[in-house]
Amino acid sequence: MQTPTLPEASLDPAIAGRLKRDEHGLVAAVVQQHDSGEVLMLGWMDDEALRRTLTEGRVTFWSRSRREYWRKGDTSGHVQLVRSVALDCDGDALLVRVHQVGAACHTGTRTCFEAGGDLGAVVAALPADASTDTSADTSTDIPTQAPQEDR
Ligand SMILES: [Zn+2]
Repeated sequence: MQTPTLPEASLDPAIAGRLKRDEHGLVAAVVQQHDSGEVLMLGWMDDEALRRTLTEGRVTFWSRSRREYWRKGDTSGHVQLVRSVALDCDGDALLVRVHQVGAACHTGTRTCFEAGGDLGAVVAALPADASTDTSADTSTDIPTQAPQEDR
């Protein structure tokens, strides 16, 4: 059915209209492991890369260095299986939650931030009431006798 005069598939205009692209037509895409919360890497997407990512179940980026589309894992086998894609408040960043197979970084580490390494920031003191364990924090609000145990 398809003829050369038909337009190729394009990104949903309702989504495209919300994107705030940089001067190169790109938005940043933060990629996160869906269950562990690991921040795996940062890539860049144009409208077509986002369209493919939203429809193919695999993450596609625009490679700024090679100037071509790059579907993660096609050469390395380290594929990213899409779980969800969200747009941030002002439309200039995407959060792509995936199941990462193997290493996200081309250097072989699980995440690109392991590969880059810690920069030794000064660690700020936390407020006295801050808890780093939110599950422990909420557990203090649970009555010693849970309601369902009364039944
Ligand atoms: Zn990397």
